[in-house]
Amino acid sequence: MVSKVPAVAGIAQALVVARVSPSAPLKRKAVISTTGVRVKNSCRNRQGFLTLTPLLPLLLCLALLAACQKNEEQSAELFVFGTIVEIKLWGASPEEASLAFLELQKMFQGMHRDWHAWEPGRLTNINEAFAEGRSATADPEIVEMVRRSQIIEERSGGRFNPAIGALIRLWGFHTSDYPINGPPPSQEQVSAILDREPSSLDIHIDGMQVRSDNPVVQLDFGGIAKGYAVDLTIARLRDLGINNAIVNAGGDLRAIGNHGNRPWRVAVRKPGGGNIGSIQVREDESIFTSGNYERFRQDQTERYPHILDPGTGWPAKDVASVTVIADEGLLADAAATALLVAGIKGWPEVAHALELDQVAVVDASGTVFLTAAMEQRIEFTDEVDHVVVPSQP
Ligand code: ADP
Ligand code: MG
Repeated sequence: MVSKVPAVAGIAQALVVARVSPSAPLKRKAVISTTGVRVKNSCRNRQGFLTLTPLLPLLLCLALLAACQKNEEQSAELFVFGTIVEIKLWGASPEEASLAFLELQKMFQGMHRDWHAWEPGRLTNINEAFAEGRSATADPEIVEMVRRSQIIEERSGGRFNPAIGALIRLWGFHTSDYPINGPPPSQEQVSAILDREPSSLDIHIDGMQVRSDNPVVQLDFGGIAKGYAVDLTIARLRDLGINNAIVNAGGDLRAIGNHGNRPWRVAVRKPGGGNIGSIQVREDESIFTSGNYERFRQDQTERYPHILDPGTGWPAKDVASVTVIADEGLLADAAATALLVAGIKGWPEVAHALELDQVAVVDASGTVFLTAAMEQRIEFTDEVDHVVVPSQP
């Protein structure tokens, strides 16, 4: 429900662009792809446009950045997991910002390579080993995601289940090109996987070695990876001494500190278009949304959204979107997915089990159901029907 930028299917070209405009505010923006760096740079009283090839030394673009006066906001866009990740820093020097953006670019390249559900890499190797009953070598981040997933799967009553990669593949959702067209899989195909009950709890961890008792387990971190990536990004920024930042992965975000003398503020989008309001982000918070309106399979007039109910193997359709505020990106991300599956009746109980009190759920007609704590946070801009749902005892 928080405004999402369109997903980017491809990787941006390796290109360095420096742009300065006379009327631009004191802002500088870098666009960094996994294959190169694009830097947009705006400072007052300078004019010009410069396009450089990827082979030109990075030093040149750093020098261009340093030529500006000390900027207050620095931003960069990185492309990962088919999403633009926008990073804004407040109060960092241009040198600190450039260093941070380059470090983060390297981190994102690693995550993309190691966590991807269908591009060959560490996770696909692990899934192959699971299918063959072998153990495989993971890394600390994958082990952490498995551990945390096991807890969230258990607490959410199986609504969040990252072991259903085989089902997600069967539905054709291992793609960056949405919408997909064509009929859904047959019930027989769905049941063939579902009857073997894949669960992250089938996975055993021994140091960095992982193994599954159940050969149908295929890890797909699509419901949690963005959250964990955002957490790791914030941790890295803090290590670098940057304490005012917002990391926005296609509308899912975590913010720390503030934007100068005002808090960070984000829009809350209405499924189907427009905003229902905005949220002022507090000192260190994550705001994540799962929606069924952007990624789906279309079969004539029928839509099959990409979040599956692990209980039935079919898409969860009851809820249009769920927005969760939590301390951590990982929990907010996984919880938004779980609550979308739990549906209009089930979400309050699952929110309680996950110890979350700031949740908003939008149904197919656009009515917003939310907790009392969430009502305090959203500044509604439209005439939006909203209903406060009593919290679970
Ligand atoms: P969004 O892409 O809107 O941010 P989510 O964070 O909810 O949505 O992630 C959806 C992705 O999570 C799917 O594309 C798929 O990879 C995976 N997924 C789908 N259903 C589930 C589920 N029930 N539990 C865990 N992961 C899921
Ligand atoms: Mg999620």
